[in-house]
Amino acid sequence: MEIISVIPRGYCQGVVRAIMTAKRTAEQYPDQPVTMLGMIVHNRFVVEECRRMGIRFVENPAKSRLELLDEIEEGVVIFTAHGVSDAVREKAAAKGLIVVDATCPDVIRTHTIVREHAAHGDVIYIGKKNHPESEGTVGLSSRVHLVTSAADVEKLDGLENILITNQTTLSLIDTQEIIDACLARWPDAVVCKEICNATRVRQEAVMNLKDTDVLIVVGDPRSNNSNQLREIGRKAGIPETCLIESVLSLKEEMVKNKNRVAVTSGSSTPNSLTTQIITFLQEYARTGQFILPEEVISTLL
Ligand code: SF4
Repeated sequence: MEIISVIPRGYCQGVVRAIMTAKRTAEQYPDQPVTMLGMIVHNRFVVEECRRMGIRFVENPAKSRLELLDEIEEGVVIFTAHGVSDAVREKAAAKGLIVVDATCPDVIRTHTIVREHAAHGDVIYIGKKNHPESEGTVGLSSRVHLVTSAADVEKLDGLENILITNQTTLSLIDTQEIIDACLARWPDAVVCKEICNATRVRQEAVMNLKDTDVLIVVGDPRSNNSNQLREIGRKAGIPETCLIESVLSLKEEMVKNKNRVAVTSGSSTPNSLTTQIITFLQEYARTGQFILPEEVISTLL
């Protein structure tokens, strides 16, 4: 069995920056409560590491960032890499909170494009419903219209001077399908593709895999970009794809009797988790023994 370590994979610069910002903030304000507005990234290992530094999280998938702010009364609030709307910034300022902004520069660039265009036209924003990044971008203006599928495009009406753009972590393939549906209705619309470079190169690396029997994506089940990588692998024709959180979720039947197994990970997945899986699979390929070492199990439970 050959193990293919897909490159590039794992942490992107936006996630590294957000984690460093969180660590620095916890050190800088030792006497203040420090709260993250939402999950720093969708990965429980990263969240647990931040908790050990004393950072508290307010998170509830049923609530918007604006509503979650009601649960922070004092101290420091950290905005995650996904970015926030102006209403969230204004509410945090009105509450007298110290604001630390870890919004990814790529998301800030999308916000700038959207804000400038919404001053004189409509923006069709391709994104995921209830995702923090789309919530933050759609909240920039009432002229930003969220579409999640080609079917949503048919429901839009009365738009003028249209810009089409998108959430940074979407699938290249799905996004292009929705852009095509928009252009079929509004051929003169301006298209500004905003899938970030980190997402694009990770997806392209999966699309370019040849003769692969299994694709293992390491990531949290809630991580959008990890799920997208799995979906890209499926659409690229890889017969079996799976998303696993850590080596503990790896089952022998996933890889038994396979010739080529590729391993990648989402941009919110710590590289140590992926390396652990690659090392384990290499050992399995060498010995045929599917036994997890006790010391590995104890670090992950
Ligand atoms: S996935 Fe892209 S947009 Fe999101 S934090 Fe990473 S670099 Fe920034």
